[in-house]
Amino acid sequence: MQSVRAEINLKALVHNFNVVKSKVPNSKIISVVKANAYGHGLIQVSKALKDSDAYAVARIEEALALRSAGITKPIVLLEGFFNKEDVPVLVANNLTVAVHSIELLEQIETASVPSPISAWLKLNTGMHRLGVNPEDAEAFYSRMEHCSNIAKPIGIISHLCCADEPAKDDYTNRQIKIFNDFAAKHPGPTALANSAGIFTWPSSHTDWVRPGIILYGVSPYDDKTGLDLGLKPVMTLKSNIIAIRTVKKGDKVGYGCYYEAPCDTRIGIVAMGYGDGYPRQVPNGTPVLVNNRIVGTAGHVCMDMMFIDLGLDSNDKIGDEVILWGEGLPVEKISAILGTIPYELVIKLTNRVNFIYK
Ligand SMILES: *Cc1c(COP(=O)(O)O)cnc(C)c1O
Repeated sequence: MQSVRAEINLKALVHNFNVVKSKVPNSKIISVVKANAYGHGLIQVSKALKDSDAYAVARIEEALALRSAGITKPIVLLEGFFNKEDVPVLVANNLTVAVHSIELLEQIETASVPSPISAWLKLNTGMHRLGVNPEDAEAFYSRMEHCSNIAKPIGIISHLCCADEPAKDDYTNRQIKIFNDFAAKHPGPTALANSAGIFTWPSSHTDWVRPGIILYGVSPYDDKTGLDLGLKPVMTLKSNIIAIRTVKKGDKVGYGCYYEAPCDTRIGIVAMGYGDGYPRQVPNGTPVLVNNRIVGTAGHVCMDMMFIDLGLDSNDKIGDEVILWGEGLPVEKISAILGTIPYELVIKLTNRVNFIYK
């Protein structure tokens, strides 16, 4: 028996991809598989998303891993490249880069490459992370156009920073307008929408869309789960109870005596800890699923183990399965308790966790 495991449901992944397709029938899909496919496994996920029109990653190493695995579809490097020596590697591996600064453009201009690089102009429409400001974009575009090391037509790409927050709709509308005004003047392909753009902002559905988190069945919104959006969770994090002990009312549990039993109860010890990527910061009472019912965590999560309060009249046994998040317990519930986003939880599992693809 494998103790700590992340079951990855590839059928659910394909279901979610098809939900995206139904939302954007006129756009091509760039599946965002950066950060090891949001912690789900870069190669397995990318291969399962075989109907994807392209992939996007953050680092050249991720792109090269996809090429080594036999993926031949276009791969977009969302952050461009970091070293001039990478330019020939981009060409040799047919990678597409987001060109977001003059410095990057100069490195492409002065490189010696056997054939042109596929490139998108990254426009800063308001996130102020990467990209060329709108007032500089025409000159930048024309310089790209005159660069014989860059393939034509040049794509245009930007990123929405508040598409998941309905209250900031003015800001998102402004970003979309800046993008569409610039894109309208140029012939190349366009890519703007992320997951929240796909669900909430039809005006951001350009030639290409870039879903990330929704492919994994997780919601980009604070107040909704993936299930609310018709998505299915792809990752289910599981372990087992390895010991059970009865404690008396008032007994303290775990490091720092952080949990005090409110009454006589049975405490289950689960083989799962922050050494596996389960967050140590969870407060007492964070939900865990055992034998189809929710129980609460008790005490600080340890490196290899954690405690759950099963209740005095429970009949759970050693060996019983425990679900930390996924099917039956949305990861969004855990991230909300922690005041973080579910993205951060799913990408953080450590290599001690066994990944099982179904
Ligand atoms: C990560 C990322 C995405 C995907 O975002 P989601 O919110 O996961 O859909 C799209 N575009 C860029 C530039 C990104 O960095």
